[in-house]
Amino acid sequence: MIRRATSGHKYIFVVGGVMSGVGKGIASASIGKLLTARGLSVNLVKIDPYLNVDAGTMNPIEHGEVFVLDSGLETDQDMGNYERFLGRDLGADDYMTSGMVYRSVIEHERNLKYGGKCVEAIPHVRDEIVERLTRAAKVSGSDVSVVEIGGTIGDFSNALFIDAARVMHLKNPADVLFVMVSYLPVPGTLGEMKTKPTQNAVRELNGYGVQPDIIIARSTHPLDNRRKEKLAISCNVQPDRIISAPDVDSIYDVPLNFERDKLSDILLEELGQEGKNAPDLSEWKKFVESTHNGKKTVKIGIVGKYFDTGDFVLSDAYISVIEALKYSAYSEGVKPELHWLSAKEYEKNPASVGELKDYDGILVPGGFGETGIEGKIAAIKFARENKIPYFGLCYGMQLMVIEYARNVAGLKAAHTTEIHPKTEHPVIMILPEQVEKLAKSDYGGSMRLGAYPADLVEKTIAREAYGKETVSERHRHRYEVNPEYIEQLTKAGLVFSGVSPDRRLMEIAELPKKQHPFMLGTQFHPEFRARPLSPHPLFSAFIKAAIAKK
Ligand code: GLN
Repeated sequence: MIRRATSGHKYIFVVGGVMSGVGKGIASASIGKLLTARGLSVNLVKIDPYLNVDAGTMNPIEHGEVFVLDSGLETDQDMGNYERFLGRDLGADDYMTSGMVYRSVIEHERNLKYGGKCVEAIPHVRDEIVERLTRAAKVSGSDVSVVEIGGTIGDFSNALFIDAARVMHLKNPADVLFVMVSYLPVPGTLGEMKTKPTQNAVRELNGYGVQPDIIIARSTHPLDNRRKEKLAISCNVQPDRIISAPDVDSIYDVPLNFERDKLSDILLEELGQEGKNAPDLSEWKKFVESTHNGKKTVKIGIVGKYFDTGDFVLSDAYISVIEALKYSAYSEGVKPELHWLSAKEYEKNPASVGELKDYDGILVPGGFGETGIEGKIAAIKFARENKIPYFGLCYGMQLMVIEYARNVAGLKAAHTTEIHPKTEHPVIMILPEQVEKLAKSDYGGSMRLGAYPADLVEKTIAREAYGKETVSERHRHRYEVNPEYIEQLTKAGLVFSGVSPDRRLMEIAELPKKQHPFMLGTQFHPEFRARPLSPHPLFSAFIKAAIAKK
């Protein structure tokens, strides 16, 4: 249907058909990217239908990385993809879970906000969803909200969200669009692409009272015309509204691929927004080209604990770190070669850290708990002694401080109170405001979270890399460098090059350049601010040092 232009805010709901894990998040991010390229301002919203109030309490092995917004909200990793594709920060209202929605409804009920009515999923929970989406749009001031409804059609848990979208469409049909991201299998035994599961998924969506306007046909192969026609006729969608979305080498190719089927024209037409500029994707294209170029490689070892699940290496837990490394490598004209090194292995067999001599750079990402910790410390020691560029993120910084305290400052028993509460030298200790929270088992959303400023010390690697005096970075931690040890560590040669404005918290630790080419750790998570079109300065400094080592 061609819609009348209205002045209302636009919503594009993205729902999944057939199965999960086929790239609904990247499809949503790409839709956002394309609309931005047409001059519209966009907020992307992720709906996670689970009952966790946020993603912070979920195990990264099962659920992937916990992404942190400026506001401190702990979210699904899709929010990271959204920010990276859009090149802008998203707000706390741009993320919601069933747990969050239900919690508000129950709080409203306790506060008598429903005037004595019986409180029910429909209308109360559904209305709460609509209210949150409306607020997200208002707060962001965008023209269009692209809303990804997690899960697949037919799931029990996302039904209320789909119903909320249906009601929004009913009230303003010209302002609300539905995109289904579906999957077309090509069974090996048949060697033919099958449309039936998608037909069924659309029928199931119809059962909710919703008709998709656009179908994104994910598959291993491009969609041919015959199948396009077949889908069109059986799903009640115009053939040109069915977008072929075969597997691609890199997620960053996806928006460009969608444009082959003129997706941004279709979206604008459907939203009554014709007459916008031609898409400006030149910077993006340049970036995508850089991902395919580069003959020289730089070999980075990531020492962590969240990758081994059974026979599979799962790197989703570190997706922002991986992407941040890639952006900086591409912008330096090299290909990153990332290797997953098991901290548990190094712990069991400390001599095996010797293999690290073949790496151009070593990175220890964020983490929690005891598993593999001595292995990580052994790797850090090796990097320091052998002058291999080292970059430590959060736990990786804390462990770098411990290693320095133990082996250089002579505090043999140095440790973090996270692992050893009664250690003789608690060089890393719990933040005072965290003590009470842990005593009450108040784990959810209770760490030091989100964006905080740090002042940078002159003539340090950090200051040189950022090129400015003050930065704002995102945090997620409970422990910090113990102020009682700062003097001693500084005397032993460690430089705290980034500190909180009140000088209480050490945000960056590093070794002077004349001692080590790049030995630097951050209490914050710089990876959450790295974007394809603006690589993070500290990641770039690390990659440059790694290239130089090579
Ligand atoms: N476990 C450490 C802390 O709580 C580090 C956290 C992290 O790496 N995100 O402070």
